[in-house]
Amino acid sequence: MYTNVCKHCRKIFKSRFKTYSCQNCKKIDNDHFDDIEAYLKEYPNSNALQISEALGITAFEVLFYLKEGRLNISRGNFEKLSD
Ligand SMILES: [Zn+2]
Repeated sequence: MYTNVCKHCRKIFKSRFKTYSCQNCKKIDNDHFDDIEAYLKEYPNSNALQISEALGITAFEVLFYLKEGRLNISRGNFEKLSD
C-alpha cells in the first residue's frame, strides 16, 4: 500500500499503486491531462507556463504530469522552467 497526497484537493489516501489524485479527482485529472495532451499536439514546444495560461491549469499541476511520466516532451524548455 502507498500513502498518497492528492495533488488536486490535498487529501491523503492509500492505494495499491502510487498515484497522485484521489478517486474524487480522477475525472478532473484525466480531463486536464487530455487538455494538455491536445494542446501539446497543436503547440509541441510549449512550456508549463504557457500550457497553464492557455488551459487554466496551474503550472505546478502541469509539471506534475511530467513528473508522473505521463507527458512525453522530448524538446522545448519544459523542465528548465523555474516556477
Ligand atoms: Zn482529490
